[in-house]
Amino acid sequence: MTTTDSAAVCPACSAQGLEIFHEERDVPSHSCLLLDDVRHAREFPKGQLRLGFCGACGFITNVDFDASLSAYSARYEETQGFSERFRMFASDLAKRWVENYDLHGKTVFEIGCGKGEFLVQMVEHGAAAGIGIDPGVNPARIESEAADRLTWIADLYSEKYRHIQADAVVCRHTLEHISPVGEFLTLIREAIGERTDVVALFELPDVLRVLRETAFWDVYYEHCSYFTIGSLVRLFRRCGFEVLGSKLEYDDQYIVLEARPVASGHSVDIVSIIGEDDIPALADAVSHFERSYLATIDEWRERVGALTAQGKKVVIWGGGSKGVAFLTALGESAGIDYAVDINPFKHDRFMAGGGQRVVSPEFLVDYRPDVVVVMNEIYCEEIAATLESLAVEAELWSV
Ligand SMILES: [Zn+2]
Repeated sequence: MTTTDSAAVCPACSAQGLEIFHEERDVPSHSCLLLDDVRHAREFPKGQLRLGFCGACGFITNVDFDASLSAYSARYEETQGFSERFRMFASDLAKRWVENYDLHGKTVFEIGCGKGEFLVQMVEHGAAAGIGIDPGVNPARIESEAADRLTWIADLYSEKYRHIQADAVVCRHTLEHISPVGEFLTLIREAIGERTDVVALFELPDVLRVLRETAFWDVYYEHCSYFTIGSLVRLFRRCGFEVLGSKLEYDDQYIVLEARPVASGHSVDIVSIIGEDDIPALADAVSHFERSYLATIDEWRERVGALTAQGKKVVIWGGGSKGVAFLTALGESAGIDYAVDINPFKHDRFMAGGGQRVVSPEFLVDYRPDVVVVMNEIYCEEIAATLESLAVEAELWSV
């Protein structure tokens, strides 16, 4: 049953009182940080997850999030850049942003640049220079003719970097890892200063889909902040930006938002964004998730358990956050020992929580799984092609 945490304050709009609709105890505090052995993987620090929904702005936050459990570093393997499907999407987006905002010959600053692939693309598509900041950045892994036009800072973005000026501030798959989202976006806005020709380009997961589909594998500790188009648009306006556009992309999984700063003391005509009035729909989705969460996990346990009980072999495809969340929810009794991933930096390392080993697709040639559970439907085609090329005949199930 939903309860109200009357002391909780919304990090996006500062309204007091959040509706608590989902709780998970002892979930791994990181899911993209792989461990060198099973023991360390199983003993990995755990955190508490208690999701609160703000009825005023629609933002969803883990009210029990403890940032001190975060350990983002170069060992963090979040990149999706080994997938051709994801690479093409990112390359198209980089090109589109450079062209639509005429960033030719200009500087792009990317906050939370991960391994840097996207910033490289923006520079290769015509930006003059790129500055990327991320504790997980690893310049040694970047191969590009544009390398001399790129600057990397291995750190979290903070007050200390507010002097960095650029024509575009890019931030992809990062805001959902930040708990004080209002403070964070305010810092970005203040750092831009009086310039109004700067563009802010953001991309992050849409929680409306997660809730409607009871996608429990998309709820995990690293994601402490969950947005819809509406709650993201409201946050940007509140922090001094004019939202130019926002829509869903990548099979409607991600929100892409483009904004410009509004000069202090000025106001602009608010252009309404399609889908921004989403609080009633979101409230329904929150109740749906709450009602269907346990039953959905049980269905998966039964589906997988029915096979493993007969001695059949099941693996998951995706050694990242979704995989960790999925396996943690199903529990050890599910009998899944391996997670396949195409990122070679993950191979033969172990997933936090259950300690499953991450293996290459080639591992399946000898292992011969009966079923491969794909952690993101969008990669099914790519995975089917890989299995075919390896002559592995397994059934593909998608979450
Ligand atoms: Zn709020």
